[in-house]
Amino acid sequence: MLSHPVPDAPIALTTDASDYAVGAVLEQLVKGTWRPLAFFRIDIVRMAADQQADPEVQAYRTAISGLKLADIKLDGAGASLLCDVSTGQPRPVVPAQWRREVFDSVHSLSHPGQKASQRLVSSKYVAQDVREWAAGCMECQRAKIHRHVKAPLAVLRSGAPF
Ligand SMILES: [Zn+2]
Repeated sequence: MLSHPVPDAPIALTTDASDYAVGAVLEQLVKGTWRPLAFFRIDIVRMAADQQADPEVQAYRTAISGLKLADIKLDGAGASLLCDVSTGQPRPVVPAQWRREVFDSVHSLSHPGQKASQRLVSSKYVAQDVREWAAGCMECQRAKIHRHVKAPLAVLRSGAPF
């Protein structure tokens, strides 16, 4: 079960020591217990390294914004991930070359369309606009049609006793 983020509680990223690419868990310490907040299916250690090399990401550190940035240590990896913690749930600042992967990891689960895709990405990451990609997605188009088709009205048989 994922927990609701608690503002100002300590946050840690822990990973299965055998494989950083799979199953990294963002946890928050609430009343002495670490609770999972989010799961990443992407290689956050590699993302952390790419953040270091990305001048756009580094510019966030000094930019005036509503973000509250923090370097969150990745347990045992000797690296830290730059995240916005203003919402209570740490949102990694996404380097440009990671946008597609981040978008795919969030959007491919449900194909929710443009606005919802953007909302989902923004709830987990600090990333550029991804709506254009959702706009070009055939699966999203199909899902949209399904969402808009109403179930046929049930026919009430007249004369049936109630
Ligand atoms: Zn889609």
